[in-house]
Amino acid sequence: MAVERTLSIIKPDATRRNLTGKINACLEDAGLRIVAQKRILLTRERAEGFYAVHKERPFFDDLCDFMSSGPVVVQVLEGGDAIARNRQVMGATNPEEADEGTIRKRFAENIEANSVHGSDSPENAAFEIAYFFDDGEIVG
Ligand code: ATP
Ligand code: MG
Repeated sequence: MAVERTLSIIKPDATRRNLTGKINACLEDAGLRIVAQKRILLTRERAEGFYAVHKERPFFDDLCDFMSSGPVVVQVLEGGDAIARNRQVMGATNPEEADEGTIRKRFAENIEANSVHGSDSPENAAFEIAYFFDDGEIVG
């Protein structure tokens, strides 16, 4: 089991409802270590850059509005198979389809305001971590 790092975001719907600590507990209970973390407000432009892979999707504009509508907590998670492990603890994109006990099943409001983001591949994890963190800000 390779030790990996992945980029996680606690989205504005969750920070608004004061769920940062509860979500962090889910991540830590799943064996993921939070090795970097900061609470920031994304500008519309920074949200667009982050989600550039989705720019042709019909939900892109709404998604960028939502992601810049309130504070987010960006974090780097480290652990064995961290990318897949985080996707597992997050649950399906649509909370109605998410497994019991997952973060999205427990906390998400709907398919857009779904409380968390997680990188979906090693390549995207590397890009997304570098989008928010310098090497010196990550302490494993
Ligand atoms: P994320 O990338 O945030 O971890 P994901 O990989 O499960 O989520 P993606 O397909 O990458 O899902 O979509 C990115 C985000 O866009 C979703 O998390 C959600 O906030 C939003 N989104 C996805 N599909 C829809 C949709 N059909 N309608 C509205 N918003 C959507
Ligand atoms: Mg995704």
